[in-house]
Amino acid sequence: MNIVLFGPPGVGKGTQGARLARETGIAHLAMGDILRAAVREGTEAGRKAREYMDAGQLAPDDVVVEMIEDRILRDGANGFLLDGFPRNVAQAEALDAMLARHGLKLDRVVFMDAPEAELIERLAGRLVCRACGLSFHRHYSPPREEGVCDACGGELYQREDDREEVIAQRLAVYREQTAPLLEFYRNKPGFVRLDAAGEMDEVYAALREAVR
Ligand code: AMP
Repeated sequence: MNIVLFGPPGVGKGTQGARLARETGIAHLAMGDILRAAVREGTEAGRKAREYMDAGQLAPDDVVVEMIEDRILRDGANGFLLDGFPRNVAQAEALDAMLARHGLKLDRVVFMDAPEAELIERLAGRLVCRACGLSFHRHYSPPREEGVCDACGGELYQREDDREEVIAQRLAVYREQTAPLLEFYRNKPGFVRLDAAGEMDEVYAALREAVR
């Protein structure tokens, strides 16, 4: 099964997408994680993307499209879940063309949404494991030991772009560039809209049902 998960920053794409991918055995291809790994490794793509990411802007389309195509071809043979790609209409069109070229198609496009106040609260309190990428929240899902990942013992940190000023910028970019994807996908086969405002397990159950 090939799935796109899209929605505003902080809506839970990463957490829910990772869980679904783990449970179904498909590849979880999270564009933000792929970019952060490229920045860490100092690749050319990472160097090109970094300043945009720190400012809460989108990295250039040609950079992300090429990276995601590589990963789909390398890891996506048994199905994939795209989390954070596409993020604008030009990327969605590039994705359609790329999938057609490789004889692939999307089975589901899931739009997750939640009120903006909740998104801000989730992002501002988010802690991420440097080693395995698992997310926690200072108040809603704190780690057992402060600053330490429950799963792997790695160090928890606040993402540079989860600072309040950058969060506002990311939400503005979402409204201007990513929200128009709703128009692009809403009448296509496989489109599902999901209310992601509730409890994590409830949202997961709805997601599971949506992709059955
Ligand atoms: P995320 O981890 O999904 O919140 O993404 C973090 C940052 O990576 C975003 O704010 C963008 O700067 C960049 N990014 C992630 N996905 C994309 C994409 N599809 N297109 C352009 N930039 C992206």
